[in-house]
Amino acid sequence: MFLSELIPTKRAVVDVNRVCNARCQMCYYTYEDKRWTKSLDTVKKELILAKRRGNTSVDFTGGEPTIHPEMTEIIRFSESIGLHTCIITNGLATEKIKRIVEAGCREWLLSIHGYKEMQDKLFGVKGAWDKMQNTIEFLKSQRCFIRVNCTLTKYNYKDLPALAAYYVNYVNARIVNFINFNPHYQWGQVEQPEVFSKLNEVQIRVSEVAPYLKEALNILEVNNLWANVRYFPFCVIKGYEAHICNNPQVMFDPYEWDYNVYPKTEERYLAHGREFQRQINSCEDKCGQCGILNVCGGINRNYAKLHGYSELEPYDIKIEHPYHFKKDLEADIVIPSFKPSRNLQYLLMELAEKSIPPYNIILISKHQSAAMNRNYGLERSKSPYIIMCDDDICDLPYGWNRTLINVLKENREIMAVSARLMNPDGTPGRNTSNNYDLDSRLVPVDFIPTACCIFRKTALRFDERYIRAGWEDTDFFMQMKHALKGQIVICNDVKVVHLNEEKNTGGTQNTYNQMLFQEKWFKKKTSIEEIGELINKGQLEKAISLLKNELEKDQKNPELINLLGIIYMKMDRVDDAIECFYASAKMNPQNVDYLKNLIESSQLKGKYEYLVAYLKDMIIQNPDIPEYPYLLSECLTWQGRYDEALEQLEENEKRFPDHLETRALKTKLQNHDSNTDKLENTGQTNFMS
Ligand code: SF4
Ligand code: SF4
Repeated sequence: MFLSELIPTKRAVVDVNRVCNARCQMCYYTYEDKRWTKSLDTVKKELILAKRRGNTSVDFTGGEPTIHPEMTEIIRFSESIGLHTCIITNGLATEKIKRIVEAGCREWLLSIHGYKEMQDKLFGVKGAWDKMQNTIEFLKSQRCFIRVNCTLTKYNYKDLPALAAYYVNYVNARIVNFINFNPHYQWGQVEQPEVFSKLNEVQIRVSEVAPYLKEALNILEVNNLWANVRYFPFCVIKGYEAHICNNPQVMFDPYEWDYNVYPKTEERYLAHGREFQRQINSCEDKCGQCGILNVCGGINRNYAKLHGYSELEPYDIKIEHPYHFKKDLEADIVIPSFKPSRNLQYLLMELAEKSIPPYNIILISKHQSAAMNRNYGLERSKSPYIIMCDDDICDLPYGWNRTLINVLKENREIMAVSARLMNPDGTPGRNTSNNYDLDSRLVPVDFIPTACCIFRKTALRFDERYIRAGWEDTDFFMQMKHALKGQIVICNDVKVVHLNEEKNTGGTQNTYNQMLFQEKWFKKKTSIEEIGELINKGQLEKAISLLKNELEKDQKNPELINLLGIIYMKMDRVDDAIECFYASAKMNPQNVDYLKNLIESSQLKGKYEYLVAYLKDMIIQNPDIPEYPYLLSECLTWQGRYDEALEQLEENEKRFPDHLETRALKTKLQNHDSNTDKLENTGQTNFMS
């Protein structure tokens, strides 16, 4: 295991105004008097500088950026110079938001701090929740990329699990940020009585919010939703450290801001994060003794002034690397290989040069079976994502593994991603889905090969019935689609060359594998299965026409006749159904379902001639089986012919004294007062197996 490499964020921030259409309880600008709006020219200049610093995206903040009078023009300009745009918004100005989306803004960071009426209260705006719902509906209809901010306060902390479920089920957010409300700006002037009293209204103590925060994180985690906790002490939610993004991490989070730092080197960005930390946080008392101070950054200085250090539990272990806990950036690279080769040697060298840590390489050459080798790798991998890479892959782009990981982190509906496999001559290569679209970033497909791909760790395994190599990978992703209902995509951001030597694709084993695959997934349905499916779907006319065709070929097929009976039952043609069930039961008395259908349809109609005839016939043909005379007596009972039933039971008891059901029904009938109602069908009919 290597330490992770830190990549400076390529996201800038532009603060466009200090005017707003809300009055949030926890607004950092509550105590700021000045209202201002930047001109279009000023914003354009900032965007050009952001682009020159090497950024690829920008977040617009305020105030409320959507009410900036020239926001649509700002978006158009930003997109035109190659800065992908995102707006942080309270979602109140839905109509304006529609125009901004039209101008090209595809990413939105929504402030959803409260659940239902609490959103109104926190925003100080009646109807804020409903307006946000409208905004979300619109953004979803436009397939925008939605992120969510939720500030942790005394008002909303108990609602965090409900909010998390809402982000998953309704908002369909890609990333959720829980932001700890720390007393910044004038909120830090706690010696002022007004500020002190308001702060006590808004701020929640970290130990109080912790249990609700953990529950919310659990909900997001099981739903594969990327969750961050910003500016929160690590030691208060031990076990959830991977989610925390404090000052030492913030400059490397691809969704956080570059704060104008230039050039983009790890050292500069780390130093900037540390400087933030030094200005804002306290590293005294328990934090001073903590082994992970350089990872956590300590507790907010103003918070410590108010609440002290009693909630903290410093770590004994000494850790320095800011991304030590970020296990979600880890994907083991499994390389199944039949034998060591020059290609393999080159690949290992390339991986060392182009992959971003942390990762393990699991190289397997254990079996002459690709499926077994792959499963061996899956058993050994401990990371949340698994990369599989064949030994004939080369020309990987730098950071290829992190790009693939981020596709899974940002898209919870995606289960697996393939790199775009290219031919050595630069043309798109063959892959299982025969897809050659190079334009979209992510291309949904039915299958991908395992030549260079990433997928979520699950309990699924490769089917080891496949011999040597070929089709086991297609089968694996087929299983994934069926069992997990997730999407599979090709990512065009990662283009790799697949030498595709097809060393194991010829020969009999491959024909066998292909047949196994076809048989497993596309086995031709029998006409009986097809008719059954049509009946289940309620397509009775189609079912009946197919059935009649089949009956013309085979009039003596009891299963077809039984199916015809089932169709008649669904059409309320019970008399016809009884005749069918009678016929199929006579043709195959071993099939208990036919007899069961005959009994049920006879009972439904109260028409027992066919059933009685059938049972009498069976008694003659099977004189040593006690169930038929017993069933006949039951049938007589249902008709209210108790004396005849009793006679039949006494006869049966003489011949089969150990048949318990006969004795039980006889006793029941003897105790029955014939003046009262009929005996009910007890549902105890004992079908023969
Ligand atoms: S939406 Fe933002 S700027 Fe406006 S009041 Fe709320 S926190 Fe302040
Ligand atoms: S003791 Fe201080 S430095 Fe250590 S984890 Fe807790 S808040 Fe962070």
